[in-house]
Amino acid sequence: MSSLPAQPSPLRTISAHAALDRDGQLEPWSFELRDLRPGDVAYDVLYAGICHTDLHMVGPWGRHFPMVPGHEIVGRVTEVGSAVTGFAPGDVVAVGTMVDSCRECAPCVAGMESYCEQGPTTTYDGLDRVDGSVTRGGFARSGICDERFAHHVPDGLDLAGAAPLLCAGITCYSPLRHWKVGPGTRVGVVGIGGLGHLGLKLARALGAEVTAFTSSPEKVDGALALGAHDVVLTRDEEQLAAKANTYDFILDTVSTTHPLTPIMSTLKLDGTLCSLGIPDHFDVAPMSLAMARRSIASSGSGGTRETAEMLAFCAEHGITADVEVVKPEEINEAMARLAANDVAYRFVIDMRAGD
Ligand code: NAP
Ligand code: ZN
Repeated sequence: MSSLPAQPSPLRTISAHAALDRDGQLEPWSFELRDLRPGDVAYDVLYAGICHTDLHMVGPWGRHFPMVPGHEIVGRVTEVGSAVTGFAPGDVVAVGTMVDSCRECAPCVAGMESYCEQGPTTTYDGLDRVDGSVTRGGFARSGICDERFAHHVPDGLDLAGAAPLLCAGITCYSPLRHWKVGPGTRVGVVGIGGLGHLGLKLARALGAEVTAFTSSPEKVDGALALGAHDVVLTRDEEQLAAKANTYDFILDTVSTTHPLTPIMSTLKLDGTLCSLGIPDHFDVAPMSLAMARRSIASSGSGGTRETAEMLAFCAEHGITADVEVVKPEEINEAMARLAANDVAYRFVIDMRAGD
């Protein structure tokens, strides 16, 4: 006797916005949400931030199309698996750049799963470790992830402004902590976009003296309002030269290759520039490193332990992203404006808008 293939439950068909191929445009699309496992938290998406990485992913970095981007997610829990202890239906939940990892290597055991030696399972465009299905991100009505990778949003944080903390926030917080930024440290933050504006706020709240480096003269007043002590225009050679040998640490958030040599020269002896933007290559004269034993380093997001710490720190200091909230049907316009450096300072999609 032949039987018809099982029909997907309509309740599990999730409407979303997806890049159907690598042309960068997102379109309404739907997918089947995988079944709830004992350790899972299922949620409806409230807000999803648009990270510059989403632009890279729907273009050259993407692997599996159609792709549902979005890894700065705040949602409301709808269902929990039988083994879940930390969440209940109705809770606010936040999910960042990863939804699983090997859980056994040294970085995973230390709660630093973004450095999982087997590679973490990314929130979207990754492959589920159990069934091999492609993971789907926050530009969707609902999502699911293991409790370990779900975070509580502390009371008092604006939920739209909290969403970008899950990628932009932790990506800046982790290196600021690793390089021990605090009172007495002089810090530069290069590129005042989604990451950079949070980098400024976080470095300031950690007690550092902070300079914003921007290529956009129109961002000077905004950078000061965000907490920068002063601002350097990176296209002004004189302003850069005046800051020679000044900084202990620089957080570089620029999304593309840009001239690093004049910026390296503003680091003191033994200073470090941490490049977060993952450019194709570094445009830097090695002599600018040798001259003062300077380092170029990088950093990849942050693990569950530090993400929880970052959220508590942000609650304590009242830090959220400055956001422009858009509707799902405005995603393409927002992505185009992000590509054109026209956002102050993060787009966040209200996934319920238009209901
Ligand atoms: P964003 O909002 O677009 O900000 C990037 C900023 O870089 C812009 O606001 C702009 O600041 C500056 N910039 C852009 N093009 C420039 C150019 N040609 N020359 C000089 N400055 C330029 O992007 P984001 O979301 O903050 O992400 C920044 C980068 O970090 C992206 O490449 C993203 O993929 C990467 N990222 C990495 C990680 C990680 O784990 N390492 C995590 C998240 C994101 P000014 O106008 O102030 O100059
Ligand atoms: Zn991101």
